[in-house]
Formats: sequence, C-alpha cells, structure tokens
Amino acid sequence: MRINNAAASALALILAACGGGSAEHGETGEHGGEHAEAAEGHGPSLGPLEAHAAEHGPAAPHGAAAGGDANHWDYMHQAAWAQVAGACGQGQEQSPVNLSSAAPMVEMPDLAAHYLAANGNFVNNGHTLQFNPAQSAATLMIGQQAYGFAQFHFHSPAEHTLDRRAYPAELHFVHRNSQGQLAVVGVFIEEGLENQALGALLASIPNGQGEEMATHITADLAALLPPDRAYFAYAGSLTTPPCSEGVRWNVLRTPIQASAAQIAALREALGSSSRHVQPLNQRTVVLGS
Ligand SMILES: [Zn+2]
Repeated sequence: MRINNAAASALALILAACGGGSAEHGETGEHGGEHAEAAEGHGPSLGPLEAHAAEHGPAAPHGAAAGGDANHWDYMHQAAWAQVAGACGQGQEQSPVNLSSAAPMVEMPDLAAHYLAANGNFVNNGHTLQFNPAQSAATLMIGQQAYGFAQFHFHSPAEHTLDRRAYPAELHFVHRNSQGQLAVVGVFIEEGLENQALGALLASIPNGQGEEMATHITADLAALLPPDRAYFAYAGSLTTPPCSEGVRWNVLRTPIQASAAQIAALREALGSSSRHVQPLNQRTVVLGS
C-alpha cells in the first residue's frame, strides 16, 4: 500500500505526525534552552537543533491535522503539544513508555517481518529522517494479522526507555493493516560494531529539508532488524502530535548495533528528537516470546 494514500486516515495521522510540516519558529527559537523541559528518562539532548528548523517543510496531508496546528511543534516545548489538536494532552494510552526487563513474559504471536530491499525516498522532514517506499512490498505478520510497511524513521535518543535508560537511538517501522490500524516496530540502536545498512542510509542523508530534497535510495529493511524478535507489546500512540492512540507497539528487546561515529552522525542529522516518557496508567506491558 502506498504511504500517501489520502483515503487512509489513520496513516495520514502518522504522516501528519512524522511526514511533514514545519517546526514552530516564531515562538521558540530552535536554539533556545530557556524553556527546555526536563526530560524524563532520557539522556542529555545532544546534537544541533538546527536540524529541526524546518521552515520549508513539505505540506502535510490534509484531513488529519484538525485545527491546522499539528505540524507546528518542536521537541523543546513538549508541554505545548497539549494545545495541538489531538490526544497529546488528554490521552491515557500515550507513547513512548518505560519498558521493564522484568515485564511479564507472555506467549505472544510471532513477529515476522517479511521485508525486502525497497526503493524509495529518504527525506529530512524537519522532525526526523524518514524513508518512504515507492511501493510497499514489505509485510509485517503479527501472528495471522498482516500489516503493510508504510515507512521508517529515526529518533535520537531512543524514545522508549528500558529500565529507565535510553539507548542512543531508536528506529520506528510503521505499518498499517487493511482496517487502517497501525502497528509500529521499535528497534533500539546501541553503540557497537559498524552497521552496513545504516551506513548506506547515513551516506544518503538529504542535504536539505523537504520532499524535493529527498534522496532516492534502496533500503535494506531486513538488515535493520536484530535476529532475535522477542518484543515488548503494549497499546500506545503516535509519539508526535497529534499523538493519536490505537497504535499497536512492538518494541524489540534486542538492539541492533552501530558504531560510535555512525551514532554521532545520526544524532547530528536528527538533533534531539524524542518525546518524553509517558505514564503507563492502566496499561500492562508484556514481553512476548
Ligand atoms: Zn517515531
């Protein structure tokens, strides 16, 4: 399925959140730290925030960003997200959350990513670096349920924390099923060996922001997953405005590795791009195996 299927309203929400729009540049100053909220469970914000100054970001898909504000936000002023139309300030099932390695182990459906190498565009949309496939040939099976691959993007540092510690980065593979429901696979990136698949992406980071600056690449999706597919499962939300809920989260327990230089390059390109950890409230996170 196509990422830019305008009829897919749920997917449009993801696109509105991650795929376009401009960062707020009137109120805040991308360089300012005077109102920076204390990050909960995250490491220090490193990297140039200039990466987020997206005054020329592409237009967002219509229909999802009710109120027209869903694209005007930044990571330095997350308390202001509550004023954006959506669930950011009100939702009780928000993401990301802290994950505990002591989470109850439950027999869960297998997570089977039928990923092929995919051609597409790698774009800096002002909030993240995102790969949009030209056509989706990739499917995620969660048990018997099929979800089509829509896009992947990065966050640095990681959004989900594990035992209150944040990995240097996190990949989100976004999928959608035929009912419009979203499933995201989160993959932590830890410092270690150089990662070839990531290296190919880093070599193709677009020089500017917006779809017109995107680079055309082939992404080796399967190479960005660890072999062990044990995963933390819970019901959550988009981690960017409008923070819509009903997202099936599957965060892989095992990280992939990247070299220190690769992580630094990713951090430099992304800036700090993580939502603060949200309360679990009544939810339970389980560890599926
Ligand atoms: Zn994400």
